[in-house]
Amino acid sequence: MPLVTSKEMLLRAQQEGYAVGAFNANNMECVKAVIEAAEEEKAPVILQVSQGAIKYAGLEMAAAMVMTAARLSPVPVALHLDHGTSFEQNIQCLLAGFTSLMYDGSAEPLEKNIAVSARITEIAHLKKVPVECELGKIPKVEEFFGADEIIALSKEKDISKVVDVVRKKAGEKTEQLMADPAQAEEFVRRTSADSLAAAIGSIHAMWDDIQPIRIDRVKALRAATNIPLVLHGSSGVIRTRKDAQERGITLKENEGTLEDAVEAGVAKVNVATAINMAFLAASKKAFEKSPDERDIRKILLPGLQAAKDLVKSYMRLLGSSGRAQATAASGSAKAVAVHGEE
Ligand SMILES: [Zn+2]
Repeated sequence: MPLVTSKEMLLRAQQEGYAVGAFNANNMECVKAVIEAAEEEKAPVILQVSQGAIKYAGLEMAAAMVMTAARLSPVPVALHLDHGTSFEQNIQCLLAGFTSLMYDGSAEPLEKNIAVSARITEIAHLKKVPVECELGKIPKVEEFFGADEIIALSKEKDISKVVDVVRKKAGEKTEQLMADPAQAEEFVRRTSADSLAAAIGSIHAMWDDIQPIRIDRVKALRAATNIPLVLHGSSGVIRTRKDAQERGITLKENEGTLEDAVEAGVAKVNVATAINMAFLAASKKAFEKSPDERDIRKILLPGLQAAKDLVKSYMRLLGSSGRAQATAASGSAKAVAVHGEE
C-alpha cells in the first residue's frame, strides 16, 4: 500500500496505550527485515532514515527503498526523517515524499529551536505531514564512555555492576538534559509539533538493554503536552520489569522499563543499535562458519533473519502487533481494501 503518515499511527497508539516501533533503513537487508517483521506481526511500522543512512546510502536511495518496500506490502508504513538537522533538510524530505519529519534543534538555544520547529511544522502541515521535534537533549553513549570502556563493560557478567557504572558516569548529566514539563507545554504550543522526542533519561547507542528510565518524567510530559511522546535510544532501555529482576537490575523510585514507558504514554519507540548488533552477530557467525564463502547473500541473510526476529519481539513488547488493519483503516480507505485481500 502507499506510505501513510505517522500522524494517525501515533495518535491511535497514544489513545489505545501501545507504541509503534521505528527502525532504521540503513540498507536493503534492514528494510526487508523490518517490513517482513511488520507483515508477520501485522503491525504498523515506521522506517526512518537517519543522518548516518543519508551519508551511507544517500537520501534518495534510502527513501526509495522504503517507498518500494511499503508499496509492495499490505501493512501501513511511514517514511520518517530521523534527527533532521535543519529547515532545509526537512523541506528536502517533504518534497521527496517523506510522510513523517523530525527537526532536532536540541543543540540550539531554546528560542531558535522553537522558531525553526514552528517554521517546519507550518509548511509540513500544508501537505498534512507531521513533524517530531526534540526538547531536552538525548545524549550519545560516546559522551560518557570510550570505545575500550564499552568493550569492557559489554563483557562484564555482573549486570548490576554495569548499571551502577552507567548511573555514576552518565546519571547526573542525563538527568540535567531531561525535558522540562512546563517548558514542553510552551514548546508544543508554540511549535505545533505533532510528536515530541523528549529526553527522559535514555542514551543513544547503548550496547545492552540495561538502563532504567524516568517514568515520573514521562507522565509529567504526557500530562503537560498531550501529544505522542517519542523514546529515542530505546536499545539501551530495560525492556520489562521481569527482565530487570532476572538480570539483577534494581529500579529506583520513579524509574521504569520500556514496558512502563509505553504504559505511561510513549507512543513511538526508536530502536537502532540493538538491531544492528543482532544483524552483525548473526552475520559474523555465518562468516566464521564459512570463511571461504564467496556469495555475499549467504552471509547477510542470517543477519537479516536475526534483525527480523528482534524487530518482531519489540513489536510484541510495544503492543503494536495485530494493529495493522485498524491503523490502515484510519489512514486510508484504499489501504483497508488492500489489507482485506490478505
Ligand atoms: Zn535519536
